[in-house]
Amino acid sequence: MKSITIKNSLKKIPVGKIVCVGRNYAEHARELGNEIPEKPVIFLKPSSAIIYSGDKIIHPPYSNDMHHEVELVLLIGKTIKNADTDRAEEAIEGYGVGLDMTLRDVQSELKKKGHPWTIAKGFDTSAVISDFILKKDYKLTLNEEISLSVNGITKQKDLLNKMIFKPPHIVAYISSLMTLEKGDLIFTGTPKGVSKVVPGDLIAAKLTGVAKLNCRVV
Ligand code: MG
Repeated sequence: MKSITIKNSLKKIPVGKIVCVGRNYAEHARELGNEIPEKPVIFLKPSSAIIYSGDKIIHPPYSNDMHHEVELVLLIGKTIKNADTDRAEEAIEGYGVGLDMTLRDVQSELKKKGHPWTIAKGFDTSAVISDFILKKDYKLTLNEEISLSVNGITKQKDLLNKMIFKPPHIVAYISSLMTLEKGDLIFTGTPKGVSKVVPGDLIAAKLTGVAKLNCRVV
């Protein structure tokens, strides 16, 4: 069972499900040749995919194009279903930064066939998470900068306010599709600049004021 670590706390929260949003930054949708979505694009990762800062990202042998995607991650703190945006906002308990590691070549093949993205998105070590900061200790303004470097070279750097769908809207929308519960994590999409990583690369990610992480690819 994987768990979530809270900053400045001994409390550990068991991870529920991981819900991810795709194409939530216009320039990232464009860089992959995708249309800007009218509703959030949603997919799931298994909780077994989670690793933590300092752990190793294991490159699966069935891909030649593993990409990094740095994302704001929301921690859900209470059960909600069919929430409006006010109740959705209340259900967000904390924030972290995460990596949605993606096998782009596998995903492209799956997209062509109209198949689910699970194989490209749900492999072991594909969901890296930082420690989380509770909302009561930090107020997210969306003026925070999210960034990622590979071997010290910046690849992704953007402000959270470039998100097409903002956190309360994402949470409200997902809660219209499935019940959200305490310990669920929501990956909110990645800005432009995704690129290939190979074994040996060191990935460092940061969300200013919130959290950071680093992981080596093996
Ligand atoms: Mg993503």
